[in-house]
Amino acid sequence: MSDDVLKTPIEYLKGVGPRRAELLQKELGVFKYEDLLSNYPFRYIDRSKIYSISEVNDSIQHVQILGRITKINRVGSKKIIRVTATLQDKSGSIELVWFKGLKWILDVLKEGHVYLVFGKASRFQSNYNIVHPELEEKTEYKNLSGPPLHPVYSSTDKLNNHGLGSRAVSKLVWKILEVAGQFITESISEKVRSEFNLLSKREAIQQIHFPDSSDKLSKAIFRIKFEELFFIQLKLLRQKLINNYKFKGFIFKNIGPLFNEFYEKTLPFELTNAQKRVLKEIRKDFNSGSQMNRLLQGDVGSGKTIVAAMAALIAIDNGYQACVMAPTEILAFQHMNNINSLLSDLGIKTHLLTGSTKQAERTVIHADLESGDCHLIIGTHALLEDKVKFKNLGLAIVDEQHRFGVAQRAKLWKKNKNAPHILVMTATPIPRTLAMTLYGELDVSVIDELPPGRKAIKTIHKTDSSRLRVFGFIEEEIKKGRQIYIVYPLIEESETLDYKDLMDGYNSIVRRFPRPEYHVSIVHGKMKPADKEFEMNRFKKGETQILVATTVIEVGVDIPNASVMIIESAERFGLSQLHQLRGRVGRGAEQSYCILLSGYKLSEDGKTRLDTMVKTNDGFEISEVDLRLRGPGDFHGTQQSGIPMELKLTNLSKDGQILSAARRSAQDILTSDPNLEKDDHPIIARAFHKLYSAKSNWSRIS
Ligand code: ADP
Ligand code: MG
Repeated sequence: MSDDVLKTPIEYLKGVGPRRAELLQKELGVFKYEDLLSNYPFRYIDRSKIYSISEVNDSIQHVQILGRITKINRVGSKKIIRVTATLQDKSGSIELVWFKGLKWILDVLKEGHVYLVFGKASRFQSNYNIVHPELEEKTEYKNLSGPPLHPVYSSTDKLNNHGLGSRAVSKLVWKILEVAGQFITESISEKVRSEFNLLSKREAIQQIHFPDSSDKLSKAIFRIKFEELFFIQLKLLRQKLINNYKFKGFIFKNIGPLFNEFYEKTLPFELTNAQKRVLKEIRKDFNSGSQMNRLLQGDVGSGKTIVAAMAALIAIDNGYQACVMAPTEILAFQHMNNINSLLSDLGIKTHLLTGSTKQAERTVIHADLESGDCHLIIGTHALLEDKVKFKNLGLAIVDEQHRFGVAQRAKLWKKNKNAPHILVMTATPIPRTLAMTLYGELDVSVIDELPPGRKAIKTIHKTDSSRLRVFGFIEEEIKKGRQIYIVYPLIEESETLDYKDLMDGYNSIVRRFPRPEYHVSIVHGKMKPADKEFEMNRFKKGETQILVATTVIEVGVDIPNASVMIIESAERFGLSQLHQLRGRVGRGAEQSYCILLSGYKLSEDGKTRLDTMVKTNDGFEISEVDLRLRGPGDFHGTQQSGIPMELKLTNLSKDGQILSAARRSAQDILTSDPNLEKDDHPIIARAFHKLYSAKSNWSRIS
């Protein structure tokens, strides 16, 4: 095929060769011509603007000045070590400086001549100078030519040192466009292009590197972002279609006795409208004949668990088994306790299965699951083991989904001959754009309402120097009968130090809050599960007033009487983690507090995170800030998601509208032509296969 030219190894491009090719591979991941074409500029310099010297200030990155060289200085006694020149225009003068290539510059630079000078102005003492500027001699003060916007490519020291700085890269791109530009093939159909006013692919690539105007540049950027998102959405939505087509869902027709009895007699509160709506959505799926794949989003404390439990009741009512998988043992224990206390009157047989379940007990559990005696099992990853077999698993619920990978989710599918319905729940909200991308093949339900009567948690940020005052506050709260969490960071890379901090912290708390008046619990990952459970239970029962812990208590833990959350070294936590931790309080009737302790000096991002926490309790808002700060690459679950996040230009925190458009367009196409055979859709199919080399899992839908 003609576009093979674009697959030419970069080494063979004129002016590259093996050594520079190796550098381009290592530093930029560029192996072939086409890789360099998708190594987009990260910004542009407007060369159409000429500054007067008096305008130069710290906020301008690069300046272009037209002026006359009035004086050239050679600096150094025996050997010249530096050359400076004074450049003057009507508004003032600025110094140009060279440390290298001195002989050459002394040769070409002429006093009294006019130059167009371009470079980065930096302040030296009270004056500005430009080190190693680019120069172009001008015979007069006009006649400036060339395109206005110059691309700037990201570079590294290594690249720069080997003559592969931004300008050199731009020349290579130019060359590729010359020799291979005509082989860039279109990937989006004519109809979609005209609907969304998209440039052709070739023009977009040309314009993103060498824009004719800023208007053309924005069109090129739009086209490329659209394409990035369009193909991801096409992949996800097609996967969804395949799922619907391949996997017939169990039909749970009856809202039977268990559900009704629970709803009428046991349910300890009125469901919120959002909870009711979500249950309706789930029930609709249960009756659709297709396998449910639903993501349930909701803020911390919005009451996802009860919705999950009620969905499980429907499954059991219809003669199926259900399972709930949680990411930690603590959480699994807690779900077990809660669900047992909710469902105890209904005569449902439940089991708990975790990594620390004893062998003898396991044997019983395995048997009960296979015989169908056990209706509901709650557990951790242990549920995924091959030995765990169900008689008839109808519904699998995954709590705190982001802790699990796609592969693990997929294992649940195999726990029955026909895939069970799947409900996955997030710990905290994730931004809409990210949900559409990471979980784009799932249907989404949102609980956007907290149960009534919650008091907003008061969040305060203090530096370490206020610790004594914070201890005083703890004392007062304990006097009022409240309980306190104190959380220390535990980051894998600095685990040893972090454990030391935790133990030091614990010891100083115990000294400050001594027995017999006070009791302090400690929980961390190195403890045996049974010890953890023991300590958690003491705290839960109110036997200890303070729980010192690492983030093992991060998710899910529900102890309403604990009303103060103190987070040590809060600047080291990510935003969603902070929000999740804060969600441990504010669960009872009392006013709750979250105190963020940090060092005095904070990075900009660190400060934004803590400020955001102080400013808002809204998990949806927090997740947007989190995405903006971290980008999707680091975002929870992205790595394990299995979605190729080939988003070179798209910024999911800003490009929500393009994403919606791309998804809509992909959906429209698939609705009328799921195999991409009609009209000019084969263009899209070809690009799709190239992108995902996915012919192998291109199941036909018909
Ligand atoms: P999350 O969504 O974070 O998993 P949970 O399911 O743990 O939240 O619920 C948080 C708390 O709110 C629990 O104590 C639960 O019993 C309570 N809760 C849930 N729904 C309601 C409701 N409709 N009215 C009052 N309390 C509720
Ligand atoms: Mg929960």
